[in-house]
Formats: sequence, C-alpha cells, structure tokens
Amino acid sequence: MIEVLWHGRGGQGAFTAARLLGAAASSEEGMYAMAFPSFGPERRGAPMRAFTKFSDAPIGDRSAIAKADFVVYLDETLFSEGWESGLKPGGMVLVNSRCQFGDPRVLSLDANGISEAVLGRPIPNTVFLGAIAALCPQLSPEVAKEAVTQYMAPRLHEKNWAIIDEAVALVEKGLGTGDGSVDDDAPGNETHQEQAAEIESLPYESPSGIRCRLRDESAPEAPSLDPAVFAKNTCYPAGHLVTKNAGWRNARPVLDAAKCTMCLQCYLYCPDGTIFKVRNDGNQVTGLAIDYDFCKGCGVCARACRFAAIEMVDEAQALAVETALESAGE
Ligand code: SF4
Ligand code: SF4
Repeated sequence: MIEVLWHGRGGQGAFTAARLLGAAASSEEGMYAMAFPSFGPERRGAPMRAFTKFSDAPIGDRSAIAKADFVVYLDETLFSEGWESGLKPGGMVLVNSRCQFGDPRVLSLDANGISEAVLGRPIPNTVFLGAIAALCPQLSPEVAKEAVTQYMAPRLHEKNWAIIDEAVALVEKGLGTGDGSVDDDAPGNETHQEQAAEIESLPYESPSGIRCRLRDESAPEAPSLDPAVFAKNTCYPAGHLVTKNAGWRNARPVLDAAKCTMCLQCYLYCPDGTIFKVRNDGNQVTGLAIDYDFCKGCGVCARACRFAAIEMVDEAQALAVETALESAGE
C-alpha cells in the first residue's frame, strides 16, 4: 500500500489534493484508494493534515497515517525538526519551498511560484498532485489530469493540467540532478524574482516607531484585556477568537515600522483581524501592531505586504530572544 501524508494549512487545498490523488490512483484498473482529512483548529491558516492511501487490494485500515511513502508539506513553515519520523524507509518528502535542504530524501518545489504564475494565486496543492504522479510508479501524469477533469470545475481544468505538466517537468529535472534542486530559471520562480525586484524599487516612508509586542497586562502602555479596550481589533470576547494562541504557531510576523507605508493591506487581509491600528491620545492612527495572543502565524500578512515590511520569524527563536531579554531585565 502507498501512503501519502499531506501537511498544510486551512485554505491551501491539502484535502482537495488528497482526494484528487486518491481519485487518480483508483482510476487505474484494480486499484483501491481512500482519502480523508484531520483538522485541528477550524480556522483558515491553521495547520491540518490529510491522508491518501492506495493499493491493489481493498483497504481496511481507516486510521491516520503515521509513516508515509510520501510526506508533503504545502507550507514550508510546517516542515520542521523531526520530519524523518513520519517517513517510511525509502520514502520521500516534498516541500513547498525554494530552498534546498541538503538531504536526498527531501525534494523542494516552488509550488507557490508555479501556481501564482498559472493561477495568479498561491494554491500549491495540484503541484504536488503532479509531483507524486511523476514520482510514484503506480501513477502517471495522465491519471492525475483525469482526476482534475472529473473532480474540478471545467474552468479550472486547463490551468491545473498546466500545473501538473510543470510539476512533472520539475520533478524529472530535480531527480536528474540528483539533489532535488529547482532551477532558478524555471517558470514560476521568475515571478518571485520579479516581485523581489519590484519591492526593492518601491519608495517608502517611515510613519511611526510602533513595534510589535506581546499582550502584557503588567505593562501600563500595553493593550488591556478589558473588553472595552480589547475590541480595538476583532478579538471580541464573544467572537470567534476567544482563546489565546495555544502554542501551535511556529512562525510569527514581525512588522518593521521603518518600512511600513500604512497601506493597510496586511490589516485588511489578516483572516483573524489580529493586526490593529495604534492611536495616540488625539485618536490619530500612529501605526500598526500585531496581537500575538491571537495571531496564528499563517503568514498572510507577510504575503500581502508589497513593501517587505513584515517578516515571518521562527517562533521558537523569537521566544528564546524574548526570554533572554526578560532575564536581562529589558
Ligand atoms: S497577523 Fe499575519 S500571521 Fe498573524 S493571523 Fe494575521 S495574517 Fe496570519
Ligand atoms: S501591508 Fe506592509 S506596508 Fe502595508 S500597512 Fe501592512 S506592514 Fe505596512
């Protein structure tokens, strides 16, 4: 039996990819497949898993996959220490990334770049459908495309066929070099390069000195948990964000006020309204801040910012720095 473990965030299409892969596998004569998801917090951007199993015999085991032949990370921030534990001997990890990880078991694909180039949006799921179709001897790009044809809306067919073709070509190229690397000249990667050049050329002005901070009730200037003040963002006591981040955020956005132009794109795009305007005593907006008590680390704000004013920082490292600063009394 071939088992595929999908790691993604809500909204990235991990379960759709898991189902499409199962549909592709079961379209072969005599093959059986199943696909199912496992959701954590029901929030867009929250980590979730999906599973695909396929075999030439009926599948009776409906439990989650602990060790897989292919482990896919649709979001690079979910690919973390201990990844080997989810892999069968001889298995392969596929990561949505432009980085190389220096391990022959790990294949990087710039799936966001490919899907942005074709769809205009970073929806990486069918890139990995195509990649697994190319890597797995029981499958083929043709059955992956057939699954797209049968289970996606007609207006999406051609673009997703193109994505599958692109993924297959990149996988073959990566395997050919033996290091899983992705060619910088490959379609899709150009998009990132052009965007980076565009960001570099944009002017910016510095609005205020506001900086991100954790909610700290002991600090007199910090936002209060009093509902009257609390409601400056969308974290209302009776709203959908009533529980503080429970520790599953693995990257946090850090806002650089010097680069921020106050275009408010991050504020508008944050799915949980955890970016809020900071006002002075005269009620004038002086900057933005991020409410880390409720930020889930999805990175939407960093992607929405065209001025590179938000950087996603490893959560563990950020906490270590904070602890060190606290110990030093700063
Ligand atoms: S502040 Fe950024 S990382 Fe945090 S929840 Fe909002 S969009 Fe996601
Ligand atoms: S999107 Fe970037 S530049 Fe615009 S307000 Fe947010 S941090 Fe500032």
